[in-house]
Amino acid sequence: YLFALLVSTLGRQMISEQKVECMQCHKTKELLKALAATVGPTGLLASDALVSRATSVWNPKPMAALALIRPKSTAEVSAVLRLCHQASQDVVIVGGGTGPVAGAEPSSESIAISLERMNRIEDIDPVNASCVVQAGTCLQNVQEAVAAYQLLFPLDLGARGSCTIGGNIATNAGGINVLRYGSMRGLVLGLEAVLPDGTVISSMGRLLKNNAGFDLKQLFIGTEGTLGVVTRAVLRLFPKQSARQTAMIAFSSFEQVADFLQLAKLKLGATLSAFEAMWQSYIEEQLRFYQRRSPFMDRHAFYVLIETEGADEELNKLALNETLELALGKGIIADAVVAKSDQERQRLWDLREDLEPFVRNKPFFGYDVGVPIGDMPAYVGIVEANLRHRWPNSVCHTMGHIADGNLHFFIQPGDVDAFKVDCDEDVYGPLKQFGGTISAEHGIGFEKRSWLLRNRSAEEVALMRSLKKALDPKGILNRGCVFE
Ligand code: ZN
Repeated sequence: YLFALLVSTLGRQMISEQKVECMQCHKTKELLKALAATVGPTGLLASDALVSRATSVWNPKPMAALALIRPKSTAEVSAVLRLCHQASQDVVIVGGGTGPVAGAEPSSESIAISLERMNRIEDIDPVNASCVVQAGTCLQNVQEAVAAYQLLFPLDLGARGSCTIGGNIATNAGGINVLRYGSMRGLVLGLEAVLPDGTVISSMGRLLKNNAGFDLKQLFIGTEGTLGVVTRAVLRLFPKQSARQTAMIAFSSFEQVADFLQLAKLKLGATLSAFEAMWQSYIEEQLRFYQRRSPFMDRHAFYVLIETEGADEELNKLALNETLELALGKGIIADAVVAKSDQERQRLWDLREDLEPFVRNKPFFGYDVGVPIGDMPAYVGIVEANLRHRWPNSVCHTMGHIADGNLHFFIQPGDVDAFKVDCDEDVYGPLKQFGGTISAEHGIGFEKRSWLLRNRSAEEVALMRSLKKALDPKGILNRGCVFE
């Protein structure tokens, strides 16, 4: 009898579990049907149509998702989110897929939304020095479109050809011109975003100054798609100054680099637009891998690529040359080359931007930490010692937008069994003593979640969580991104 009872109970349990599963299947099927009706047949790609799409630039696995939804308008984004919210369905927003912290990788249980069909530049306004773009627009398209009006959208980074404005906003992108123009937070005049329940928040103002209440757009800038989906934005533009000077400068110590930054700021003023520092091994690996010729006769400990942009060709050239001469006279710099053509300029930038030699050998671990510039030599020294101790064959290639306190490490542990978590300990561990950040650029994503509480105070993280709860009570947007 007992045996029979056991069998019948088990049987009943199995049936009810099956039923529950079917209920879930049924709900998902109904949701997908409703989503298809909302965005039309070309607006929904079923999961099996995603096999040819990589999850991201950094993750070649086919994108997993219940479906990829490609809305054509803010109204469609709103309708899609309303349906997902009603169904308590997790949603992940994907952009250009260039973010390296796995912040926008859907899973087989989530609905992916891509704004790739919302990629229009709606308006360019030279008088107000602004433009209106849809969030799926590629950064480089914006740069090129406004250049036709003698205008500059100054956000610039290596992924310019594939990243999108929506992703740039969600991650508060920085890049190479932050020194002069600030990061995305300062380059967005207004934006439109859809809350997880479908509510459209339109803050599409074109004003540089607006203190009428809270600056709501900031809720969606740098919050990695966890509070809302940015659909359109008003971007701040600047006059395009065509007189450009580019130089590569060599140094024998980091103290010289820091001294030269101070001098360059003083002498070049607002024309200084880029100051990219590279450690010796970074340049030497570049030269070796691509069989390039060094711009210098000798080897040096540090290199800096600087660029100035001004209105007058002659004045701009004169200012840079005077600064370099002054620095040479003071013994701050060891050597310098100034690009004399666009081709020479490109060759210098290639040395800085081609990352293939650093990411090619797997495993490879990348970082975007930040520490005050005065602490950089001490901090980098500790990281290098930690890595050498853990993996004697490791190599660490370092460069940084150091005027912003931002350093990038490209680490090859030289050990196929190496774990990223160990590397994190070596890189992030020493940050606290310098008041540094685990992310100066890429954000937290999924990759750095366990470090958030070690880098920000409990009170700070609690306030972040309150905001998340207020805007996304069901937690359907980019679940697991930023917070564990
Ligand atoms: Zn960077």
